[in-house]
Amino acid sequence: MRVKCVICDKIESIDDYSPQAKKLRNRPIHTYMCPECRSRITEKTGKRVETGKFFVFRSGNKKEWLH
Ligand SMILES: [Zn+2]
Repeated sequence: MRVKCVICDKIESIDDYSPQAKKLRNRPIHTYMCPECRSRITEKTGKRVETGKFFVFRSGNKKEWLH
């Protein structure tokens, strides 16, 4: 099946019978991320946690740092 990466709009084709294809058929197609973007995001998230610059917005839009 043909899938479109939600980040870079690259069209990829994946095996119809792969577990990923099965998952995507049960969800909207725009949830697909190509391996390149997926690893980039995983890397970024990992770095953010490492440097401690990871925060969340709670009610009132106050920044709260995670320790
Ligand atoms: Zn991509």
